[in-house]
Amino acid sequence: MSDAITAGTVVTLHYTLTLGDGSVDSTKDSEPIEYLHGHGNIVPGLEQALEGKGIGDEVQAEIPADEGYGPRDPDGLKEVPRSQFPEEAELEAGMQVAAEDADGKVFPIWIAKVAGDQVTIDLNHPLAGEDLKFEVEVVAMREATKEEIEHGHPHSPDGCDDH
Ligand code: ZN
Repeated sequence: MSDAITAGTVVTLHYTLTLGDGSVDSTKDSEPIEYLHGHGNIVPGLEQALEGKGIGDEVQAEIPADEGYGPRDPDGLKEVPRSQFPEEAELEAGMQVAAEDADGKVFPIWIAKVAGDQVTIDLNHPLAGEDLKFEVEVVAMREATKEEIEHGHPHSPDGCDDH
């Protein structure tokens, strides 16, 4: 296979993400993540920065919000009754849940606040509106399988978690 990251490469990487307020999220103390290059698994700005890189390469990318998770839409916050969620679901702020639109298309929403019978949901990604500073190290790479390309995401050795 090619030794440079291109569409259809499954890339394993460690990342450290620093936000504008100085808060840091890192995989360094845990398992690296895997993503399928060229399929929108990661933010566009980071995907561009990783194009053509190889194992051991370290990449720094400063990604404005527009090339990251997009601007924050103030209308994205909505209050909905608790009864709209399954009774057994344990809802807490910061949680991501799957919602379904009228056509049955599934999309992610985030729980912003739970107050009694009212739940505030946020349609914005938690990192929307944030300028992102990534430091990334490419740990491993391999060619995606045909099934992974069809699904648009990498599979663990046990197969696909999603379906
Ligand atoms: Zn899959």
